[in-house]
Amino acid sequence: MTVRGSGGPKVLLELVAALTLAAACGRGEAPADLVFRGGAIYTVDAARPSAEAVAVRDGRIVFVGDAAGAADWIGADTEVVELAGRLLLPGFHDTHVHPVSGGVELGECDLNPASSIEDVERIIQACVAREPDAPWLRGGGFQLPLFPDGAPSKELLDRLVPDRPAFVTSADGHTGWANSRALALAGVTRATADPPPDGVIVRDAAGEPQGTLRERAMDLVGRRMPPYNHVQTRAGLERALEMAASFGLTTLHEASAGEAYLRAYQAAESAGTLTARVIVALATDPDKGAAQVTDLVALRDRFRGTLVRPSAVKIFADGVIEGGTAALLEPYLDRPGFRGELRWPPEELAAMVAALDQAGFAAHIHAIGDRAIRVSLDAIEAARRSRGRAGGPRHILAHIQLFDPADIPRLQGLDVVASFQPLWAYADTYITELTEPRLGPARSRWLYPIRSVVETGAVVAGGSDWSVTTMNPLPAIEVGIRRRDPDEDDGQAWIPEEQVDLETMIRLYTMGGATAGGLDAETGSITSGKAADLVVLDRNLFEIPPHEVGDARVVLTVFGGRVVFRRDAGR
Ligand SMILES: [Zn+2]
Repeated sequence: MTVRGSGGPKVLLELVAALTLAAACGRGEAPADLVFRGGAIYTVDAARPSAEAVAVRDGRIVFVGDAAGAADWIGADTEVVELAGRLLLPGFHDTHVHPVSGGVELGECDLNPASSIEDVERIIQACVAREPDAPWLRGGGFQLPLFPDGAPSKELLDRLVPDRPAFVTSADGHTGWANSRALALAGVTRATADPPPDGVIVRDAAGEPQGTLRERAMDLVGRRMPPYNHVQTRAGLERALEMAASFGLTTLHEASAGEAYLRAYQAAESAGTLTARVIVALATDPDKGAAQVTDLVALRDRFRGTLVRPSAVKIFADGVIEGGTAALLEPYLDRPGFRGELRWPPEELAAMVAALDQAGFAAHIHAIGDRAIRVSLDAIEAARRSRGRAGGPRHILAHIQLFDPADIPRLQGLDVVASFQPLWAYADTYITELTEPRLGPARSRWLYPIRSVVETGAVVAGGSDWSVTTMNPLPAIEVGIRRRDPDEDDGQAWIPEEQVDLETMIRLYTMGGATAGGLDAETGSITSGKAADLVVLDRNLFEIPPHEVGDARVVLTVFGGRVVFRRDAGR
């Protein structure tokens, strides 16, 4: 459909206006705090997909309709936002994001901007110079494809940081890069075994640790580093919230939090600085199995707020394909016989998901490889069968990169949320150099099959996995439509069969996220009675070429009726 700002037949408008006026006067309603009019409004509410005006009062949407009807809600203190051809949408939802760790990382040595090894060197040297007395050099965000085999060496880091231990993580969070001092402090030598089930200490030809640590092996160094204190996590969260508001995000699914992060969220809510609803997935330890659910329930009870809802639990089913740590049904082509490892043995995963289901938690499962997706669906299927009744929590599979097509219909059948990172669904170097060569063309056809999943009728949601990739939903919405590099205007679509339309992509980032978090009645669409979580974009996405969607900018973000971001003229 097309959403346009212009009105319908004038006579009809006047009639409706008269009726609305009478109704409003009859109720003796107080005026609205905010009224939006004069542009395009796409509501993501099937009962009324578009409107001319929206009114907000006391944090809630009180009117969705025509311009004349909205006029009745305008009083002396009402702020009227003239959309002037711009687009009003429901506030965006990010269904998989790491606000606290990402925000803390922004305050450390941030390698996200680096697009070459020279950039990495320059940034690290600047970080060292900036904090000459810091006991560690810590940071993250480097791109694996910059280094041969995605494995940067300790010698390079020794040269950049000779005087203290250094440990930085990759943008995807599944690989760490340590210098010799950090390895020595952690006692990692040629005698150290790879930590099971999926840890990899990358070694040189002589068997010496080479500097790259994958998955569980990252903990060998990670646990030697001082934990972040409350001031650092609070500051990190505030940075992330500011960024989220600037991207129009009003609901965040924190993808992995322990007690320290929960304290940061709780403090932000108490201080009134929380500018998003937050569904928190509590972190788990595969070694503790289903026994840890009692502790998770206690955490949920302790930290549940109005906006902060620790209603989910994070489980890693596997790792990532580019690191060779995702669990596949068939072997990696570059490692004959090797199919990757599951982080939880299937029977333990099933016991955990069943225990979470019983306790009313949504399992938020990181599942990347087709084997991880299959065992996760098996676990959810078993849990639902043993529950034996309808309702209960809706579980989430996140990332869902590689499918066996036979498993696609199971998402809808089991009422599982399919949580994609649509920004990853184009042929960048992660795909062309580190993924497709390991899978071959036949299996690669089923990478990020967004359209196939949407067509089953499953609940589909979108997330950034920030700080892995940008928190901005608009480039991700564009990639979902085009499956091309969002920075390029033309070129070949990657697996064009899996492209979807703009309405679908907007739904992923609005109602899809709300449903994923059990917030369908509260937010996710522009519907009378719902919370006023809204975003104004600087252009109407429905009237521009698809390759410009990612360039659109948020000009205003409203959370619960409060303006939490307003772009200054000229910014
Ligand atoms: Zn994540």
